[in-house]
Amino acid sequence: MRFINTYAHLPESFFERINPEPVAAPALIRLNRDLAARLELDLPEDRTGLAEIFTGNRLLPGSKPIAQAYAGHQFGQFVPQLGDGRAHLLGEVENGAGERFDIQYKGSGRTRFSRGGDGRAPLGPVIREYVVSEAMHALGVPTTRALAMASTGQPVFREEELPGAVITRVASGFVRVGTFEYFAARRMEDELRLLADHVIERNHPAARESATPYLALFKAVCAAQAELVARWLCLGFVHGVMNTDNTAVSGQTIDYGPCAFLDHYDPAMVFSSIDHMGRYAFNQQPTIMAWNLACLGGCLLPLLDPDETKAREAGEAVLEGFIPSFTEHYRQGLCRKIGLPADDESFSLARSLLDLMRRSRTDFTNGFRALSDAQTAPAPFTAMFATAEEIATWLHDWHDRLDRTGSVDTARETMRTANPAYIPRNHRIEEAIRAATAGDFGPTDRLIEVLAHPFEDQPEKAEFAHPPRPEERVTRTFCGT
Ligand code: AMP
Ligand code: MG
Repeated sequence: MRFINTYAHLPESFFERINPEPVAAPALIRLNRDLAARLELDLPEDRTGLAEIFTGNRLLPGSKPIAQAYAGHQFGQFVPQLGDGRAHLLGEVENGAGERFDIQYKGSGRTRFSRGGDGRAPLGPVIREYVVSEAMHALGVPTTRALAMASTGQPVFREEELPGAVITRVASGFVRVGTFEYFAARRMEDELRLLADHVIERNHPAARESATPYLALFKAVCAAQAELVARWLCLGFVHGVMNTDNTAVSGQTIDYGPCAFLDHYDPAMVFSSIDHMGRYAFNQQPTIMAWNLACLGGCLLPLLDPDETKAREAGEAVLEGFIPSFTEHYRQGLCRKIGLPADDESFSLARSLLDLMRRSRTDFTNGFRALSDAQTAPAPFTAMFATAEEIATWLHDWHDRLDRTGSVDTARETMRTANPAYIPRNHRIEEAIRAATAGDFGPTDRLIEVLAHPFEDQPEKAEFAHPPRPEERVTRTFCGT
């Protein structure tokens, strides 16, 4: 492993050079050894050394910490300066296979971008990010990953006093739509071009070969996001705060704040306590992503064509492809969930199942998982619906389609790799956070372990597949910043 730090070689306007603020009593909570091995990190053997590294008290040799500048639209309102107010990019590492990763601390102290904040993170949101981002990875969703979490031994003060922690996360880049907005709002065209070149190099290298590389970059970002949002929808994931500063141009899911997973299927579901208008509701996510990408397109205009009208036309043409592209990925994903090829009839059959699920408040994850076995054992599936006759008719149509598309033999395998048995259920996360805040990391560890293999049955861990009991249901989530 070696540090390259290409971002830190960009002009000073891109960041502040600043080290993490040391903490009082570092203690390692968890190290993701598989990920550390993939990064080929040269780490100390002992927990004390690891705790120092993963709180920022000691720096990895070769790192050059910076806080990145960015802007962003928060709930539709433009904020010209946000930036890493409590995060430090350690730098970029390359492993022997030539893979590159950015490593970043979050909760590691104040920076120029902290505004009124304390630069710290409570333990709860750190646990949520670790658990959910690693689960998303195991579920096959592009995402930032969690390398480690460590407690600081210092309290943070929110509504109450909470233990503080630092999460170390890894991404193929932390550039956001908001990073482009930062320079576009300041009309810093040279920097905008440097940023675009950096992102092409790091995340979308095929764009370099195009005759119009910046348009190709925009296309590549739109394509990656179309696929990403389709994956979210196929798993019942609600990001919760899809501001443009929380939208990575790499196409990875980033910033697990008030995120949540649907238990029963309700497409209009909103969890975030601050999302009063339902802007970031489950079923709004494709439209909101299109909105965020329109912001990115606006920033890129000066790079697309010297003639503004032509630039606009080119950008709009790409943007118009976003919803069709999302729909295509969604069609593919949803049809796999019912074990059928991605044709129009199967897509419409899948959507009619969703409608039945909505009306019966069927558990989204368990409903599809039960369908995976419904060719031979239909009872557990049909029992999840209040509308016995309708679901019987639906099953009849499904069998008919399986027959006619020649999918009878392949359907189960397809479905079992598309429909997880385990997702990070909101009540399990809350339970893990409560225990950890009281000093017991057992539930967190168990949750992380079961979620590392979400498509396996794991009968001894079946309780993690149970939906919440009424008194366990979580309907509100908090950023916890
Ligand atoms: P987020 O809601 O986590 O996406 O953060 C939005 C903005 O607020 C970013 O610029 C963060 O760096 C900043 N921020 C959030 N929490 C804190 C904190 N505790 N201290 C300083 N800045 C923060
Ligand atoms: Mg953020």
